[in-house]
Amino acid sequence: MGDKASGSVCSSSTKPPEILTDSEHFEQQQLATSCGYSQHMHPANLGDGVDTARLLSRSDWGARLPKSVEHFEGPAPYVIIHHSYMPAACFNTPDCMKSMRDMQDFHQLKRGWNDIGYSFGIGGDGMIYTGRGFNVIGAHAPKYNDKSVGIVLIGDWRTELPPKQMLDAAKNLIAFGVFKGYIDPAYKLLGHKQVRDTECPGGRLFAEISGWPHFTQLNATEGSTPAPVEPHAHPQAVPQSTPQTPLPAAPKV
Ligand SMILES: [Zn+2]
Repeated sequence: MGDKASGSVCSSSTKPPEILTDSEHFEQQQLATSCGYSQHMHPANLGDGVDTARLLSRSDWGARLPKSVEHFEGPAPYVIIHHSYMPAACFNTPDCMKSMRDMQDFHQLKRGWNDIGYSFGIGGDGMIYTGRGFNVIGAHAPKYNDKSVGIVLIGDWRTELPPKQMLDAAKNLIAFGVFKGYIDPAYKLLGHKQVRDTECPGGRLFAEISGWPHFTQLNATEGSTPAPVEPHAHPQAVPQSTPQTPLPAAPKV
């Protein structure tokens, strides 16, 4: 995709920051500063009974400002799981940061949306990347955008299972949201495919989350009928059965 602002100069290191030497870390800091974001990692204490997770802010991954922000009230009654399909899976923090920037570019510059569509991203590095955040209306699942937390597990999870650290990070994020009151303790967990015509979050990941607490089967009056006309948040793997919806151009990664 046309990723001019966040190209290779801003993500040249393939080492996670935690294993950089002091001098390498200093260089990263200088590079990060010149690219407009901080590389500092902030472990987030998620509270009693909830594992510590590493939660990165928007400034950490170099997000542009949203064009506007609309909030919704109250704890979210739904959590909706996505895969990105593209970008492909990332397994170190600089690559995952670039994936977040690529998705924001796709949604904000190509789609013309306010911001990256998702509430949060999860990287193969086990990190949680803040997207729109909690209680902000998303652009990831029509009809559910104002009552859900949309979590994208970066990668194509049709046949492969995301690594354990990714699954754990997603579970930790949900637990954190419940603990902080952003997610209703009686939330319903859904895969994107349950609310619109899509393969997302991929068959293998969908089978996995089907066994998680709070996973909910929707009845026939809920879910994906009729197919909304809004464009998808992520490219689709195969032509869909609704030819009136043009396939989005797949972003180059
Ligand atoms: Zn999706």
